[in-house]
Amino acid sequence: MTSILLLAASLVLADPPHPHHSGWQAGTARVVITPPEPMWMAGYGARDRPSQGKIHDLWAKALAFRDPIGRTAVLVTLDVCGIGPDVSNAVRDAAKTHNGLDRDRIVIACSHTHSGPVIGKNLISMYRLDDSQRRRIEVYTKGLIESLAKLIETSIKALEPAEVAWGTGRTDFAVNRRTNNEQDVPALRDSLALKGPVDHDVPVLRVNTAAGKLKAVVMGYACHCTVLDGYKFSGDYAGFAQVELETTHPGMQAMFVAGCGADQNPLPRRTVELAERYGHQLAEAVDDVLIDSLHAVEGPLATSYEEVPLGFASIPDKSFIEMQTKVDDFTIASRAKMLLRQIEEKGKLDPTYPYPVQVWRLGDLTWIFLGGEVVVDYSLRLKANLGSSRTWVSAYCNDVMAYIPSWRVLLEGGYEGGGAMVYYGLPSPWDGEIEEKIVSAVGRRIKAVAPIKAP
Ligand SMILES: [Zn+2]
Repeated sequence: MTSILLLAASLVLADPPHPHHSGWQAGTARVVITPPEPMWMAGYGARDRPSQGKIHDLWAKALAFRDPIGRTAVLVTLDVCGIGPDVSNAVRDAAKTHNGLDRDRIVIACSHTHSGPVIGKNLISMYRLDDSQRRRIEVYTKGLIESLAKLIETSIKALEPAEVAWGTGRTDFAVNRRTNNEQDVPALRDSLALKGPVDHDVPVLRVNTAAGKLKAVVMGYACHCTVLDGYKFSGDYAGFAQVELETTHPGMQAMFVAGCGADQNPLPRRTVELAERYGHQLAEAVDDVLIDSLHAVEGPLATSYEEVPLGFASIPDKSFIEMQTKVDDFTIASRAKMLLRQIEEKGKLDPTYPYPVQVWRLGDLTWIFLGGEVVVDYSLRLKANLGSSRTWVSAYCNDVMAYIPSWRVLLEGGYEGGGAMVYYGLPSPWDGEIEEKIVSAVGRRIKAVAPIKAP
């Protein structure tokens, strides 16, 4: 009897394995977006000349998903500091026209590298540009919009049966920059005395082909891409992590989505060796997850999107702004000129800003995409409430319009609390409702993607 059972078992095993099919499809596409000529670089106001070459290429990468019932969504990742609605809306409008994708189906995620080109009007009051540099930015931006629209289309055309899964790893080079002196960080780290909230999770999405070959990896980390501040283009630590993963896994596409790292810096920093080392640490954390048991994504994809009107603390009147155009401070004067142009075009300043909040549900994973430079309090609060192992909070998505402080950081003030608004050309700090408005919007979007439960 036993031998018959064993024989039956071995016959079953001898059969070619029937791969389990989730019914999901995935498609990848990529394009180099390194400017071919010297261009002004984004993220630091202190730079006084355009770029001089590159460390490695900057990339735009797309990952298209199609669920078992035919719903399609595309994630685009960019090795750039930020994009505004001038770029994001144009790309998403093209995806609607050419691919029928509404805004809930497209995410455009910026790595926030401070070694990429200035794009469109993003952070424009920070830079001292002459006319020829301004023209270069316009031409580059127009080309970028066209290539992103094409990239989305290419990734959809490349859809093929795939297995999607996710897991979470950890790495610790992000340091809260509001509560630790940069030069003290090595000593503080050694004595376990680093202070302030951090989020060291490394969420990972793995896409395999139906045959089980690694096809794409998306990784997240909540930390500024500010190891480097020089004149060579690079994706900073996130770029190095992508290069390393794509080298060790030939044929795979590695993508980076920044987390809520607005108040987090990679410390210590400022050498190429450190950027490479943090990239290696991140890649290692990803590899640890890839060999671990991952949660398979099954069932349908659900997507949801809204724009929340965030209010400003105050709207200055026209005479005050006119006075500010004449002050000695370059950034205050250039913001004032931007605001005056807005008054001329629209008759008044907008009292609110349309802030994008997006949620995707992939199986058990709730993936939240927030706009702007979001401080770490948001990911900690959302993950504490939603379950840290099944919630991924991404930031710098769809529109990087400003820093997004929590209520705590808004009250404390400083750069992330309100000081940085001037660089983004916004009239004042956000009002006190910001955190509750954003968290409520996330709650509404999560409800909208909730699986339908049987009664
Ligand atoms: Zn930043």
